[in-house]
Amino acid sequence: MSDPTHLSLAEARDALKSKRLSAVELTQAHIDAIEKSRALNCFITETPERALAQALESDLRIARGESRPLEGLPLGIKDLYCSKGVRTTAASRILDDFTPTYESTVSANLLRDGAATLGKLNLDEFAMGSSNETSAFGPVVSPWRRAGDPDAKIVPGGSSGGSSAAVAAHLCLGATATDTGGSIRQPAAFTGTVGVKPTYGRCSRWGIVAFASSLDQAGPITRTVRDAAIMLGSMAGHDPKDTTSVDAPVPDYEAAVGASVKGRRIGVPKEYRIDGMSAEIAALWDVGAAWLKDAGAEIVEISLPHTRYALPTYYIIAPAEASSNLARYDGVRYGRREQGRDVTDMYEKTRATGFGSEVRRRIMIGTYVLSAGYYDAYYVRAQKVRSLIKRDFDEAFASGVDAVLTPATPSTAFAQGEKGAADPVEMYLNDVFTVTVNMAGLPGVAVPGGLAANGLPLGLQLIGRPFDEETLFSLAAAIEQAVPKIERPRPWWRES
Ligand code: GLN
Repeated sequence: MSDPTHLSLAEARDALKSKRLSAVELTQAHIDAIEKSRALNCFITETPERALAQALESDLRIARGESRPLEGLPLGIKDLYCSKGVRTTAASRILDDFTPTYESTVSANLLRDGAATLGKLNLDEFAMGSSNETSAFGPVVSPWRRAGDPDAKIVPGGSSGGSSAAVAAHLCLGATATDTGGSIRQPAAFTGTVGVKPTYGRCSRWGIVAFASSLDQAGPITRTVRDAAIMLGSMAGHDPKDTTSVDAPVPDYEAAVGASVKGRRIGVPKEYRIDGMSAEIAALWDVGAAWLKDAGAEIVEISLPHTRYALPTYYIIAPAEASSNLARYDGVRYGRREQGRDVTDMYEKTRATGFGSEVRRRIMIGTYVLSAGYYDAYYVRAQKVRSLIKRDFDEAFASGVDAVLTPATPSTAFAQGEKGAADPVEMYLNDVFTVTVNMAGLPGVAVPGGLAANGLPLGLQLIGRPFDEETLFSLAAAIEQAVPKIERPRPWWRES
């Protein structure tokens, strides 16, 4: 078979089932691709031996007719998911020698279903960022290049930048990611891939390094909508170890791919037409609505009046929860310790050297908004606004809207160093269309919408009712069908 890294996850599954390809061959092809693509810096830790051992077991199972749903399919795991016996860093110095003795529930579900795991993917430190430039292990480079600008190193988005770049560069069939304010959907949009942030509670957070617990959700990044549906089917499910995980059956997401979208009402929120929105993004949004209309859906204008408060309130709630979650990195329980004169000095030195500047900024903001005297003015107020943001969506859905269509990001990907160096808010603005979804706990999907004039991908976002990922899969598949074929980047990054 010609290069099996070009198969989609669904095609690879079928090729393994019909024995046109072995799991070991498929895994080895991805390991070879990873070795030749280190210039992209997608992986923090590669685990080729582990992947090959898993693939070998898969081939034995396939021969015995005992295939599991993801049998022999090689995946990448964001290095925020704890992997039993494999170093797990959260892209932070403070965890650079941490090897968990347990496996996160979501990655354990993938292993239970037969996946092979190629290694741990790079990310922004503790998932804080939108460009993968805050990683203590260096930035990830997107396989995409800007037209006429071959020297600019384009960012793959963040925080799941290793996941999005590895999937876009065909280094794995799919990857796990996490989304607190956009970290699945924004990197997917930047790399022309599909990213799914499920409803809060759909996937277990157990064993995933916590950032902001009331916002964090696990989800997949893949090259096709069908592949995302297949992966989410394995990742999702109730877990008694996470009290926010929902005890509800996991639907057959793959069956929703290709289902008719006739008569579906799609809301287009007028508040997302933000000041200074580029003509290109506005045009993409209109075209996306037209594609859904052609597929039989009905487009209606809706209002989500509290949208403009989402980003500022996110940047109170997320740092508040982060400052509390990250208190555990004290040099005693996990990872790195710096010696000090006494215990307080040891804490301070450990945290000052272990955390990067963006993480320190979030801890300071979070501690401030939770402190006596400011708690009511900032944190409590932000929680109230969060309820209003959720109510906006509740009302839209109550009026009969089945899903909401928006752009995924306010721009295409930018080059390393181009944004946020002087003003972090410039970086935070990347998530203006995605944070509302986390604040309201809703499912959201980013799906490729085409290429911009600069040659880089643009993405559309679909937002759904709680636990109605199926409608999103059917709508995203309709968009995928309608988008003119996207020319993928030539593998300039591969060493021969
Ligand atoms: N970019 C946002 C942040 O920096 C969202 C990150 C995420 O979803 N993990 O907080």
